[in-house]
Amino acid sequence: MTSADPLAALRRGEPALWLRAPGPRRANLTPLLPAEVDAARSRLDRFRPVLASIFGGGWDGRIASELLRFEQADLLVKGDHALPMTGSVKARGGVYELLCHIERRWTAAGLVELDSDLTVLNGEAARAVLAQSPVVVASTGNLGYSIGLVARAFGMPVAVHMSHDAKAWKKDRLREVGAQVIEHLCDYTATVARARAGAAADGAYFIDDERSRDLFTGYSVAGGELAAQLEAHDVRPTAERPLTVYLPCGVGGAPSGIAAGLRLIYGEALRAVFVEPVASACMLVSLATGGEPRSIYEFGLDNDTIADGLAVAMASQLALDSAGADIDAVVAVTDAQMRIWARRASEQAGLRLEASAASALAARAWLVEACDDLFSDSIAHVAWATGGSRLPEQEFEALIKSRNPPI
Ligand SMILES: *Cc1c(COP(=O)(O)O)cnc(C)c1O
Repeated sequence: MTSADPLAALRRGEPALWLRAPGPRRANLTPLLPAEVDAARSRLDRFRPVLASIFGGGWDGRIASELLRFEQADLLVKGDHALPMTGSVKARGGVYELLCHIERRWTAAGLVELDSDLTVLNGEAARAVLAQSPVVVASTGNLGYSIGLVARAFGMPVAVHMSHDAKAWKKDRLREVGAQVIEHLCDYTATVARARAGAAADGAYFIDDERSRDLFTGYSVAGGELAAQLEAHDVRPTAERPLTVYLPCGVGGAPSGIAAGLRLIYGEALRAVFVEPVASACMLVSLATGGEPRSIYEFGLDNDTIADGLAVAMASQLALDSAGADIDAVVAVTDAQMRIWARRASEQAGLRLEASAASALAARAWLVEACDDLFSDSIAHVAWATGGSRLPEQEFEALIKSRNPPI
């Protein structure tokens, strides 16, 4: 067994594993409630005709992805890399929070009653209200890209604050659709703080990746979606033969929302494994030192990784409070491992994954090879492919073609 001391492994730049202490699971401070998931699901349903008419192309407005089989790696892959609108998992939580805000604006303007049918809201009056409703978001890339694209599609003014990790093509694409892109030379945590202050000063609505309960709840709807797909595959997890899910983790909103949603359905028949880059293992360092957010810089890590979607120095308090107890393990993988698995997913399964998403596949492979096939009691392994279908050809080629140093 590896990783007797995961923090020492991280310091050496090596893969690492943190496991929840055996015994009963503690309770979350602010647990996800079934009623919250139901409310989010019904809001997403009510928005379907609106989204379908704005985005067009024959799409029915449902934010859902396929469950794919990756034969060679003996894995199921949840294909959020191909989610509509944004090509990443942000289409679930980030966009959900934007929709909550849009509905509140329409309600405040007297155009609609809260929780009522939204089919009527495609006209000029609805757009005029949103044209006066600026939003602000901070991002390492995908959240800003997603909110920027969708907010612009609704006609909202949007300012996207990007940390230094953000890729140039995402900024270019945002500017093309009329979003304001504000670049910062600092990391994600500092960028969020600046954007939050800027939004408050301007009276704009801030989409808060670190503190928004709506955003977290939006992600949780994915739990029911996966459960229905597994049922259709005749996969029925039990506590003895649990479902093991590998969830790439940045600030923690997406994986904790999904894990909490799955936990409500499966209880102890679920094993939630969060996956991070070695250089940005913010969830691992927090859980290994008692469960409060801690900065990775304190542990000698530098936040320098090819996984731009996961380049976060400090986990969100909200994620830890709401789903920290749902996390069974955290695996940290190297950039080289992510590259290898992005390439394999492309060559062997025709999947276009960004490094952040390939981390889930890399984590499973490392547990098999280096950790005595840990979790081999699982009835199924699901790697959550969180993004990548929108990567431009050149970016993708650069990711999978570059030579690796040995792991
Ligand atoms: C944002 C993102 C994640 C992780 O989400 P967090 O809420 O930041 O933990 C994982 N993968 C990709 C591709 C992402 O864009």
